[in-house]
Amino acid sequence: MSISREVFAVTDRRAHVAVIGAGVAGLTAAVDLARRGFAVTVLERGRAPGGKMRTVDVAGRAIDAGPTVLTLPDVLEDLFADAGARLSDHLTLARADILARHAWADDGGRFDLPADPEAAVVAVEAFAGAAEARRFARFLKDARRIYQTLDQPFMRADRPSVGGLVKRAGALNLARIKPFATLWKALGDYFHDPRLRQLFGRYATYTGSNPYLAPATLMLIAHVEQAGVWVPTGGMAAVARALAGLAESLGVAFVYNAEVAAILTGRQGVEGVRLADGATIAAESVVCNADVAALSTGLFGSAPAAAVPATKPADRSLSALTLALVAETGGFPLSHHTVFFSGDYRAEFDAIAAGRLPPEPTVYVCAQDRGAAVDSPAPTGAERLFLIVNAPAMADTHPLSEQEIARCEETTFTLMARCGLTLKASPEAMVRTGPAEFARLFPATGGALYGRASHGWTASFDRPGARTKLAGLYLAGGSVHPGAGVPMAALSGRLAAASLAKDHGSTRR
Ligand SMILES: Cc1cc2nc3c(=O)[nH]c(=O)nc-3n(C[C@H](O)[C@H](O)[C@H](O)COP(=O)(O)OP(=O)(O)OC[C@H]3O[C@@H](n4cnc5c(N)ncnc54)[C@H](O)[C@@H]3O)c2cc1C
Repeated sequence: MSISREVFAVTDRRAHVAVIGAGVAGLTAAVDLARRGFAVTVLERGRAPGGKMRTVDVAGRAIDAGPTVLTLPDVLEDLFADAGARLSDHLTLARADILARHAWADDGGRFDLPADPEAAVVAVEAFAGAAEARRFARFLKDARRIYQTLDQPFMRADRPSVGGLVKRAGALNLARIKPFATLWKALGDYFHDPRLRQLFGRYATYTGSNPYLAPATLMLIAHVEQAGVWVPTGGMAAVARALAGLAESLGVAFVYNAEVAAILTGRQGVEGVRLADGATIAAESVVCNADVAALSTGLFGSAPAAAVPATKPADRSLSALTLALVAETGGFPLSHHTVFFSGDYRAEFDAIAAGRLPPEPTVYVCAQDRGAAVDSPAPTGAERLFLIVNAPAMADTHPLSEQEIARCEETTFTLMARCGLTLKASPEAMVRTGPAEFARLFPATGGALYGRASHGWTASFDRPGARTKLAGLYLAGGSVHPGAGVPMAALSGRLAAASLAKDHGSTRR
């Protein structure tokens, strides 16, 4: 595709912002900038909006092949409301009545975690006894406290420092949220049943982190889930479409199959971007929604590379081995979200830390034709499934061999079979995406899907904020504060737009 400069010449007097990438954060930044009066062009190397929120076509059916657990829809509601629109006019969300079904092999049991906290305590009592239920109630209370302590002063604040957080949240409150303990260790104080410790330890993986290294503050994810998990009509792809639709209604221009090859700079800072086909586009500012590693490793040029903190491969978050398939299922009642746990969680994360696929992986399954209600009926015939297994993000340095991947797929299916689930799918009805493909989709990441891992209590402060050292260059996305996940990435886009607008206003003055 050839794009001439004229196509992008800004004919009105508004300042022009180029947004690199139509991931969640690129989209929320575009919406906020357009409603504030900027002329915005989103340049996306893929063929559709959404970034990791993508679909793959399997046997003629579109399967969500990225995020599937939607939480904190109020973040999107606020975005729409601030733009004078209503989320519910663009997206239909159903609240799930269980957060997920969990299963352990060889009759280790099955556990549905209700979304309602009181029902959840009753369910834990039935599953693991009255004492465990009391400890679980305490866990939920503490998870809520951590969330409340960090929500405004950290997650919604523009790149907080340790000192700033202490000032805003209060030293005593911070000390009470166990900032220095690991998640795994803290969970041991609440759960004597190893299955529940494993279940809540898995929340570390929502940020692409290892539960044995992540801080206990990630307990807050339990509160986020308990506040509601939502299933959008039309799947997660409908969320991306709703965001892009809102942006378009505000005048944002989208160009797909447009790979940005360089950010152009001059003495005053950013001057525009150059696409891979050579076309240049003038822009006063750029919001970069690609992973920060793409900037820091120089993919966009040396001036932008020097403007952001260096990223080390050792700090990368997890990658994944995913399978999107259309299959006939039987023997196990899948829920919309089901997790099949491995027998040795420590071995799973030790293998990943060593750059290997787990000997027996924990498997998450999203059964996309099943509704949000726990008793929603199984579809007739073959159904759409999306499977995720954690994997190391070392596609550039230690690529996985085909045999290793095949072995992992086999143990994945064996584990599900040991839990009772039988799957019948032809090889043509299955699309695999592993770290190597993710690395190609999201350059300079080695396949990491969540930016840098949250390992150690300072990791969250090491993520860059929206502003960079280069005038006119702003960052947005899961590798930027406040971190990965759809609502967090959405917030980062909003923070980038707010910083850009503020700086623009003060420069003009
Ligand atoms: C398998 C999987 C499961 C997940 N599960 C969940 C979940 O259940 N719940 C949840 O909340 N989160 C989940 N996540 C995480 C969540 O999807 C991400 O944190 C979030 O979508 C990241 O958004 P982003 O704004 O960082 O943009 P990204 O999605 O990273 O998009 C960046 C965009 O930039 C584009 N781009 C990059 N370089 C260029 C360039 N040079 N030129 C033009 N365009 C470029 C890319 O093509 C891409 O479209 C999951 C992620 C994956 C992959």
